[in-house]
Amino acid sequence: MIVTRKKSFEDIINALGAGSVYILGCSQCATLCRTGGEKEVLEMKDLLEQQKISVTGFFILDPACHKKNSKHLLRNELQNIEQSDHLLVLACGDGLQVVSSLFPKKHAISGTDTLFLGAEEKRGVFTKRCHLCGTCIAEEFNGLCPIGQCPKHMLNGPCGGSMNGYCEVSTDYPCIWEFILESMANRGQQKNLKQFIKPHNWKESFVCSLEE
Ligand code: SF4
Ligand code: SF4
Repeated sequence: MIVTRKKSFEDIINALGAGSVYILGCSQCATLCRTGGEKEVLEMKDLLEQQKISVTGFFILDPACHKKNSKHLLRNELQNIEQSDHLLVLACGDGLQVVSSLFPKKHAISGTDTLFLGAEEKRGVFTKRCHLCGTCIAEEFNGLCPIGQCPKHMLNGPCGGSMNGYCEVSTDYPCIWEFILESMANRGQQKNLKQFIKPHNWKESFVCSLEE
């Protein structure tokens, strides 16, 4: 999922300035992250109204990143949206840009920070898994990804900074290479690690459009 974190209410208020607001959430990643599901949208509505900010309406898109579906879902909300000065989007940056493209005359504001593509390990604990590198090579590492999980994207790791299984960039964060080495050893594949992995080709990560 795309992992998002709530912006502070103070930051949102500062971004809004004056005027009325229409709130949009997302039924999928932002709901799973508890940043933009129905509960969070209703909480935001209450908070804004407590600040005497007019909320002209709200809607949970399904999902926010599906442009055609979002346009269809919002067909009965156009009047409420038209009455607002700002669209507050509680979804990822992709959802925000889809909303902005549907209503280019409106001031679209993000209510979240978009962090990474990852997994929820346990309630409220998310870890990054993938860096959207364009050409997946995770099979070279038994399904563990040093591009996504190593801050230096080390393909021939670990780097010299790994200490007691933890990453030098953040000592709260385990070094992914510990897991890769263990996994390779468990499968008797240590020899594979002697092969130099060439620098990654990032070209495909800049693909800007795709047709089926
Ligand atoms: S190799 Fe690339 S696409 Fe595959 S998991 Fe890692 S970052 Fe994601
Ligand atoms: S300590 Fe491990 S995870 Fe951290 S930068 Fe070095 S190789 Fe990557």
